[in-house]
Amino acid sequence: MKVIEPKQVCGRLTVQCRSGSASNGDALWECLCICGNTKVVRAANLRSGDTVSCGCFRKEQTAKLAQPFAALAATKHGHARREGKRTPTYNTWQHVISRCTDPSSDRWRWYGAVGVQVSERWKVFENFLMDMGERPSDTTLGRFGDVGNYEMGNCAWMTKQQQLYTRRANEKANVDSSTGVKGVGWDKSRKLFRAQIRINGKNMSLGRFITIGEAEQAYQKAKESMLLCLREADSMLP
Ligand SMILES: [Zn+2]
Repeated sequence: MKVIEPKQVCGRLTVQCRSGSASNGDALWECLCICGNTKVVRAANLRSGDTVSCGCFRKEQTAKLAQPFAALAATKHGHARREGKRTPTYNTWQHVISRCTDPSSDRWRWYGAVGVQVSERWKVFENFLMDMGERPSDTTLGRFGDVGNYEMGNCAWMTKQQQLYTRRANEKANVDSSTGVKGVGWDKSRKLFRAQIRINGKNMSLGRFITIGEAEQAYQKAKESMLLCLREADSMLP
């Protein structure tokens, strides 16, 4: 058994001097912590390593663990955690924020990357909740025409059908009159077919191709990837 003696270092504590005995006979030692506090500790606790600081170490660890949840715990709306689960409205809001502001989000390329923004007001959940109300079941947050920013006046809780309708209207605008093929246009100056996909009301180039088939294939591939992404986004919603 390790003997406790002055100047011994136990974690953040340095043993100073004997400070009597506990009622059960355990030796008590006065220790100096690196933070400047002194603390009287039982010899047994110093030996076992149960006590390694004046209490500052545990406080720091607890704070570190609590950090990611601190923002949620501090919310007054109660949406962040209701019965330990996030509410549908809160989930939707968080997805919107992440796809528009986080380049590491797998949906970023269809949103943030093409300039879809969240209004400053909606970066605060309480404001979003106040403007949109609670999310009705079987709906997701849609933008009118599937274009523009996430902001008051451009969004509504939409059913799947409403979402499809608004996306279809957007796709109709993507048929190029020069080829009659969806997603494929003719680049007159370069004499090549160009594939493009319509996102956020703008045409995003997918490259230029010698044959119309290649261009169409590029468009279909991008579209599948986009739809898969949108389906995943929807299916994630409870
Ligand atoms: Zn301390």
